[in-house]
Amino acid sequence: MTRVAFIGLGNMGGGMAANQAKAGREVAAFDLSAAAMEKAVAAGCEAAGSVAAAVAGAEVVITMLPAGPHVRSVYAENILPHAPKSALLIDCSTIDVDSARAVAGEAKAAGFRFADAPVSGGTAAAEAGTLAFMAGCDAADYPAVEAALAPMSRVTFRAGDHGAGQAAKICNNMVLGISMIGVCEALALAEKLGLDPVTFHEISSQSSGQCWSLTSYCPWPGPVPAAPSNRDYEGGFATAMMLKDLKLAQEAAARSGAATPLGATAEGLYALFDRLGGGPKDFSAILEMLRGRSVA
Ligand code: NAD
Repeated sequence: MTRVAFIGLGNMGGGMAANQAKAGREVAAFDLSAAAMEKAVAAGCEAAGSVAAAVAGAEVVITMLPAGPHVRSVYAENILPHAPKSALLIDCSTIDVDSARAVAGEAKAAGFRFADAPVSGGTAAAEAGTLAFMAGCDAADYPAVEAALAPMSRVTFRAGDHGAGQAAKICNNMVLGISMIGVCEALALAEKLGLDPVTFHEISSQSSGQCWSLTSYCPWPGPVPAAPSNRDYEGGFATAMMLKDLKLAQEAAARSGAATPLGATAEGLYALFDRLGGGPKDFSAILEMLRGRSVA
């Protein structure tokens, strides 16, 4: 039986660890939150007392942590000194490309195989085991990475070498942030023009305005029953998380010299929505701000 250490059992990691256990793997799980640990145990994982205890004896180590500083410190202080050198290390958090490359360098220098493998898909996909993974790793390590991620994935790509997974993730989410704002602006305009936004959705879904934000995640309640717009924008992908990803894209653009003016505007609009209280709401709730309505 494959022995997996799973570190970070939050909104995403909880469901992902549960799917590793469901696939028959022996999962040693650790999170700083006692409530998260209880849920993981109920889902078939074993509670570890620390990161060090979780990774001792692991064949695969998976991390799903909030941001770059968490990943850097957990790897440097707890994983690299305590995991067996044979363990395959996979970080699925969304973090900056530089942190991913730094951690990969430290892991490699210490004799480990490492992959950055962030995900696309929200908490529902994490629970269903239907996430899309984009991995940055050595080509020789990719088959093992793909096999390790299989119980949690609908599809897995090798984006390139270390850091390429994170690069793919922030570019994808920049598209998503920009397209969601475009869809919301169009729905708000349709409403002002006296055009039923649901009718507009139906027409544009079959026309050149078609995109994922409109047809799979419609911010207007009604047309897409599974979308967070139907449950007061609760759950889903929080505005604060989208803002984090758009900031990562802007920092990467500034460092690399890429021109991303629409990405910068999307970051500004999501920062404003966050300040207006939208942070915990699903990111499609920015529709309310663009309609001139209050968020809370
Ligand atoms: P979360 O805040 O719900 O979970 C993070 C977990 O990490 C928490 O339970 C926290 O207690 C734990 N943690 C923090 N420091 C730790 C440490 N030192 N040791 C052990 N545990 C520690 O966040 P989430 O929504 O699960 O997101 C995790 C990552 O996935 C983020 O990088 C996020 O950007 C990315 N992501 C989230 C979504 C989403 O829809 N929520 C979608 C795609 C990607």
